[in-house]
Amino acid sequence: MPAASLETDFLVIGAGVAGLRAAIELAPAGRVVVLAKREVTESNTQVAQGGIAAALSDEDEISLHLQDTLNAGDGLCNPDATKVLVEDAPERIDELIDWGTQFDREGTKLTFGREGAHSRNRILHAHGDSTGREILRALFAKAKTLPEIKVREFEFSTDLEVEDGRVSAVRVLDEHGQHSTVQASAVLLATGGLGQLYANTTNPRVATGDGVAMAYRAGAEVTDLEFIQFHPTALYLKKAPRFLLSEALRGEGAHLRNMEMTRFMPKYHPMGELAPRDVVARAIMHELELTRAKDPIVYLDLTDLEASRIQHRFPRIYATCMQYNIDITSELIPVRPAAHYAMGGVRTDLHGRTTLPGLYAAGEAAGTGVHGANRLASNSLLEGLVFGARAGRRMRDELKMTARKSPKLRPAAGYSNGPVPVPVESAINRLQELMWKDAGIVRTGTGLKEAIKQLEEIGAQVSRPHSRREFEARNLQISGLLVARSALAREESRGAHYRTDFPDHNDLKFRKHSVVSGDKIRFE
Ligand SMILES: Cc1cc2nc3c(=O)[nH]c(=O)nc-3n(C[C@H](O)[C@H](O)[C@H](O)COP(=O)(O)OP(=O)(O)OC[C@H]3O[C@@H](n4cnc5c(N)ncnc54)[C@H](O)[C@@H]3O)c2cc1C
Repeated sequence: MPAASLETDFLVIGAGVAGLRAAIELAPAGRVVVLAKREVTESNTQVAQGGIAAALSDEDEISLHLQDTLNAGDGLCNPDATKVLVEDAPERIDELIDWGTQFDREGTKLTFGREGAHSRNRILHAHGDSTGREILRALFAKAKTLPEIKVREFEFSTDLEVEDGRVSAVRVLDEHGQHSTVQASAVLLATGGLGQLYANTTNPRVATGDGVAMAYRAGAEVTDLEFIQFHPTALYLKKAPRFLLSEALRGEGAHLRNMEMTRFMPKYHPMGELAPRDVVARAIMHELELTRAKDPIVYLDLTDLEASRIQHRFPRIYATCMQYNIDITSELIPVRPAAHYAMGGVRTDLHGRTTLPGLYAAGEAAGTGVHGANRLASNSLLEGLVFGARAGRRMRDELKMTARKSPKLRPAAGYSNGPVPVPVESAINRLQELMWKDAGIVRTGTGLKEAIKQLEEIGAQVSRPHSRREFEARNLQISGLLVARSALAREESRGAHYRTDFPDHNDLKFRKHSVVSGDKIRFE
């Protein structure tokens, strides 16, 4: 049966901070459809804890925020994009407050927290450790007041359609398995991250790299995908999700201990537990290796800190750990590192334009270059806001350019006649274990080649998707290959990318961004 088609002015794929902010910008110019593949409340934005950075306090300056971001990026931030990020920040935050975002205050004054590698107190947070949830609530509430915006949940975008060299439509699969096509004058990918590539991740189920894989298949360039940030401390319990234990806990004085109860970070870095995330993650991996236990762990120890302060400052972390019968004020928390954030993504310019006409990207799915080789904490919600708004502004112009074209409505392409694929969950599990082992925190050329070989084998199993989960498996396989190929090509260590066979920087050859275009990879 031919599937239905829909026509709109703008299509936004993703309803996190980047997608919703863009939609609000687009609404005055035309009809906006926003797709989310599950509920709006399932996204990386929803689970963001620590906060959002902006140079707004009296003691801060935009130039300091810029410098801290450049330092964290380890020589690889795009200076123009980073400047835009920090300069647009105050205005975007003021706007969020106008739209009802309740950041934490002392009396009437906003409270600014400090996180690793920030030289000033500049992190706004909400309800202690629920910043993302509060921002999403406010953006969604604002979007609901604009009749031009239609948010459609459980609509899974599978592929981009390219016509005469520009993206003209998107194929969509709904929760009942029905295919349709949505045509638009411009499409924004705001699909978030790809943490689900790894066996251990802080990211929710939806973070399967769909945007990167769709854009790559359609011919867009992707960039900096070797740079994956691993968060050092995620809750590690057998049947529980890898819930994030914010860096701010270590900022408050929490210590890391190995299975012998020894505090080990001072032996790895003079800053101890407050060393950069990649250093802490590698130190933990090393301690895990040294332990002879069958299922080794390390512990986060908050027991010396004042209990009432912990409960007040981290209510969500406290309550979540209590669900698993761990009282963090008096008991040690078992932790391990987990994949957390993708610094790279679909390559964009300062206005969210990708290399494919008609296609834009913003938020974690985009590669703007603002994070360089390592993200400064609390800059990613900000990136979604700033570049979501900028992409929205530029997308409005597309409508003027394409307005005279009458839409050609076509039936959507279905996938119902292919052979039944292999059991998808086992292919995904294999991929996640493989990525964790060979393209994870510590990498080698040999391991990366093995990962590529096995990912190619998995590719043959997942290349003809029918169901949503099979589409996700194909996207994970494509994104995984892009990460592994980029990591193999970067023969140095920088930021979050660490190779034991090339442990140092090689500025001459690699102080450049990796760019993958089809089967070619280059550094520029
Ligand atoms: C546990 C955790 C804590 C964090 N803490 C912080 C923090 O304190 N500060 C900070 O700055 N950053 C933090 N981050 C990072 C930050 O939350 C994300 O980078 C940011 O929220 C990404 O926003 P986004 O809009 O790009 O994507 P998301 O918020 O992930 O939204 C993606 C959207 O795309 C939709 N989607 C995906 N694929 C498809 C598809 N195929 N079809 C249709 N829809 C699709 C999803 O349904 C979802 O609506 C944290 C991340 C995690 C995981």
